Amino acid sequence: MDHTEVAILGAGPTGIGAALRLLELGKTDFLLIDAADAPGGLASSCVDDQGFTWDLGGHVQFSHYRKFDEYMDLAFPADGWLWHERESWIWFRDRFIPYPFQNNLHRLDRQDRWRAIQGLISAGSLHEAPQNFEQWIFATFGPGIAELFMLPYNRKVWAHSLDTMDFRWVGERVALPSLEQAMKSICLDEDQVSWGPNRRFRFPLRGGTGAIWRSLANQIPARNLRLSMNIERIDADARVLSSAACQVKYETLISTAPLTWLTQAMADPRLAQRAGQLQSSTVHVIGIGLEGEPPESVRKLCWMYFPGADSSFYRVTVFSNYSPNNVPAPGSTWSLMAEVSETDFTRRDRETLVQRVVEEMNAIGLIPDRRKILSRWHRVLKHGYPTPSLGRDSILAEVLPELESKRIFSRGRFGAWKYEVSNQDHSFMQGVEVVDHILYRRAEPTLSEPDLVNQRYNPFPYAEWEAA
Ligand SMILES: Cc1cc2nc3c(=O)[nH]c(=O)nc-3n(C[C@H](O)[C@H](O)[C@H](O)COP(=O)(O)OP(=O)(O)OC[C@H]3O[C@@H](n4cnc5c(N)ncnc54)[C@H](O)[C@@H]3O)c2cc1C
Repeated sequence: MDHTEVAILGAGPTGIGAALRLLELGKTDFLLIDAADAPGGLASSCVDDQGFTWDLGGHVQFSHYRKFDEYMDLAFPADGWLWHERESWIWFRDRFIPYPFQNNLHRLDRQDRWRAIQGLISAGSLHEAPQNFEQWIFATFGPGIAELFMLPYNRKVWAHSLDTMDFRWVGERVALPSLEQAMKSICLDEDQVSWGPNRRFRFPLRGGTGAIWRSLANQIPARNLRLSMNIERIDADARVLSSAACQVKYETLISTAPLTWLTQAMADPRLAQRAGQLQSSTVHVIGIGLEGEPPESVRKLCWMYFPGADSSFYRVTVFSNYSPNNVPAPGSTWSLMAEVSETDFTRRDRETLVQRVVEEMNAIGLIPDRRKILSRWHRVLKHGYPTPSLGRDSILAEVLPELESKRIFSRGRFGAWKYEVSNQDHSFMQGVEVVDHILYRRAEPTLSEPDLVNQRYNPFPYAEWEAA
């Protein structure tokens, strides 16, 4: 049996963040384990048989943390990155309008404009104290924008009933409307597109998003990294991880695997039952590699949102626009990547989904000529989005401390199940922060104060908690 002081389960951004922090602090007695044969987790990339590179869903790099940016700069030199201004649009009533919807109402036709404004006037009086996401949408946007965009789009992305979801995760993730802003857009007939933390983002010149994590994992000595090791059981009392082939004895476990899986692998029926109430959605990522050049309408676009019932996908990325190296022949091939969500409430026919997506793209004009398709790529992410459902926080408040009493720290996108802090920067920093928590009992603001970390650009260490 192998022995290690710290076992890190999962070599995605969270696990890599934890491993690099341990190394920074001079700690070398740890083992980073992953079932996959390469690091990166959900932030991996792959190349299909036709030479098209795909991410597992549209990934862009933007950051709330100086430390994350320092590691991004370490992953590649400056000329290894491409910087982009976000060009994101919404397919609405058979045309594209700029994102965010609520800031660009002047693009709507007259009847919709009036619906939106009328709704904004009445918004505040609808639900003074909203109890769920649906009520929050009505109270914040009014019935006009709610029914035109916010409800259909969010129902599609989350594939859960919005009245079963919380709204306190929203923070800076949704542009909040104001009547003044809306009137300004309409009266001045002006686009307002600069909202949001991801309005400028970077992307690797080569290798897709996954190249970042492969590069950072290269900083981890081979003796500390164990790939192709699928953990099947965890004995939390004896502190032993077991795969089919071997066992690892640990003192402390940092787990980045889904919390639902973790509690089952521990064979703890009570914790498993509690964690089993957490909700999530599956994401189908469908890549379409094409010959020729993109149609004029999408030639400069980054990604597009699709709230309507005329498509299965909620978002399509023009992935060849992120880097010319995402396609086998830059200039004469290009690529689209669609994301489709699935839950028990919204089932998909997996056999026919790709063909359906192609037909929908064709009808919308994204793929004018189906004969130009060179490649169709489909990946199902069973755990795609951790749903911020009502009751989530009370489950986490119960399960995470109990795990910690057994020296198990569950962190990351599905380890901590907090959508609002589950991008790559957050996940990486959850890994960094949990190491400092384990070694020095330092606070973990990303986990405990999502709103705060999302409102600002964070230094590390966090001066105010250090002083406390
Ligand atoms: C559709 C989509 C779009 C996204 N877009 C963006 C974006 O634009 N920008 C952004 O910053 N982030 C984005 N993200 C989020 C990003 O992918 C996550 O932040 C990040 O991958 C989470 O890292 P993690 O390490 O917590 O988890 P994961 O990446 O899920 O890593 C967990 C690892 O644990 C391993 N593992 C699990 N179980 C076991 C086991 N039993 N034995 C061994 N190993 C195991 C897995 O193989 C995996 O490698 C997106 C995610 C999705 C799904």
